[in-house]
Order: sequence, then structure tokens, then C-alpha cells
Amino acid sequence: MRKLFFTFIGLFIGIGGQSSQPHLYQASGIRVGISSYAMHIEASKKFNIPVLENSKVINRYIRTGKLVSVPISGKGYRLHRLNYSQACLVPKAKAILQEMAKKFQVSTRGNVLTVTSLTRSLKDQCRLRKINSNAAIGISSHNYGNSFDISYIRFNRQLKPNLKLEVDLEKLLRSYKKAGKIYYIKERKQSCYHITVRNY
Ligand SMILES: [Zn+2]
Repeated sequence: MRKLFFTFIGLFIGIGGQSSQPHLYQASGIRVGISSYAMHIEASKKFNIPVLENSKVINRYIRTGKLVSVPISGKGYRLHRLNYSQACLVPKAKAILQEMAKKFQVSTRGNVLTVTSLTRSLKDQCRLRKINSNAAIGISSHNYGNSFDISYIRFNRQLKPNLKLEVDLEKLLRSYKKAGKIYYIKERKQSCYHITVRNY
């Protein structure tokens, strides 16, 4: 009976906790639980960079080296047209992106990934929300400089789904997650993997 009581209380707190807070994130046509996305935000905070308000602030962080520019293309990746983000990341996230892209290219014998989003200022986030109701509501881990998106329908500079490459990409992401280096979420609406690098 005692056990049943606590189970009931736990269930109540669980439901209450979910409904009392807005979902920070909605992706994949299904809602990603707050605890899942909260892990991304927690990982972002570990880099000691506050939420980046606008491009002026982002440029200031670039000047001090806390954010670094990401070249438009490199071994195993290229940047898609960026309308709502800037081509920069914290150094560790840039290193992970480049490392994963290189591995992807080697393991798939020459294929190239497409990065569709990098660091977003709060201002970018608001603009994005106006055209995409599925964009993160409130703070996104993109606002801290340690998240980026990789498309799973664009490979080798063209929009062309490729199930084999998608599986290869997810396999790579899974190994990095298992190693404690990243978190990732599959965003079905955006057809990309949202990847957050941890400050391990
Ligand atoms: Zn994302």
C-alpha cells in the first residue's frame, strides 16, 4: 500500500512537472520530452558562454577566441546556405564536427555531409520561429555555440535521401554519444540530426 502511494505521488509529480512547463523543444512531428532536450541545454551551459543575444555579441566572442569560425567546406562536410545561424562554434564543437565529417567521408568512401545550422543568436531564433512554428520555443542549445544540425536527406551537395548514408550517419552519431562526447536528436520536421557537443 505504501509502495502504491509513493508510486501514485511519483506519477502525479511526473505529470505535474511536464504540464507546468512549456515544451522547450518540438521536433520530429512528435514532442521531444523536456528531460531529453534539457540535457542539451545543460551541456551547453558547461561551456560558460551565456545565451548569445545578437550577432554583435557573437562577433565579440569570435574576437576573443571563445567562438571560432567554421569554414564553408572541409573534409567530409559542407555548409548549407545559412539564413538563421552563423558559421561559428565553440572550438570543441568545431573539432568534433570536423572529426566526425572526416570519419564519415573515410568510412563511406568519399561521401560528404551537409551542415544546415550552427550558432544562432536569440534574434535569429525569433526570426526563425516566425516562419517555423516547430523551432525551439524559448532558449535553444544553438544559442550557446555548441550545437549544429546535419541533414539526413542532403548528401554530396544534393537533396536526395539515401537510406544507407543516413544509417551510416546515425551509427557514427551513436558511437560519439556512447563515448560521452555528444547528445543528438533526430528532427523529422527539419530532416536533420540536432547535435550538441558536450564539454567532456
Ligand atoms: Zn538543431
